[in-house]
Amino acid sequence: MIYAGNFKTNHTRFSTREYINKLNLKLKDKNPEDKIYIFPPLTAIDNYSGNFTIGVQNAYPIQNGAFTGEVGIEQLDEFNIKTILIGHSERREILGESQEFVAKKFAFFQKMGFEIIYCIGESLEIREQGEDAVIEYLLAQFEGIDTDYNNFVVAYEPIWAIGTGRSATTKEIEQTHNALKKRVNRPILYGGSVKGENIAEIASIDSVDGVLVGGASLKVDSFLELVFHQK
Ligand code: PEP
Repeated sequence: MIYAGNFKTNHTRFSTREYINKLNLKLKDKNPEDKIYIFPPLTAIDNYSGNFTIGVQNAYPIQNGAFTGEVGIEQLDEFNIKTILIGHSERREILGESQEFVAKKFAFFQKMGFEIIYCIGESLEIREQGEDAVIEYLLAQFEGIDTDYNNFVVAYEPIWAIGTGRSATTKEIEQTHNALKKRVNRPILYGGSVKGENIAEIASIDSVDGVLVGGASLKVDSFLELVFHQK
């Protein structure tokens, strides 16, 4: 299983270091087959080491240059960052990233050899139209994406389940992941209100290869509860 924590606009450099120190104490006992990723905010990126991978929640598809407020490869290289989230619904919806731009980012970071966690997800309006509409909508989010790239993971995150406390049902996750697996031969994470109370059920779904977690990753103890959940 993959366990990825997305801090979004939470935590500072100081609190991230504290978090990672605590995480490291416990991760020595983790299942060697599990992989852990942490995505802190950009100002908290540092040279951390441990049994996990640090990635960024965003970067601009450029080496360096005149892109006010953005960071490129030059800044990521300083911290040896080689992992990035692309296509998160908050960037698509709030920051206005189009599928075209998301695909451009994907192609750039693919060329740079990054490991990409590629997020897709549907709104409640689409979900209410039924499974076929959901799949059609999700597949459109692979437009312009080289799904043969061997260093990317898909994160299926229904927008209506993100930060709402309402996770998709086991049946919805299973059906959607199974349909996606017919299109992409890559690991698929589920994201959307994953927490201590539902991790065992979600992790038991065959087509779930891991979880991308927002809220429940913010406290190290609740993130560890996911990593060390009982089956
Ligand atoms: C996310 O935004 O990636 C996410 C899954 O958030 P939450 O776990 O808070 O629903």
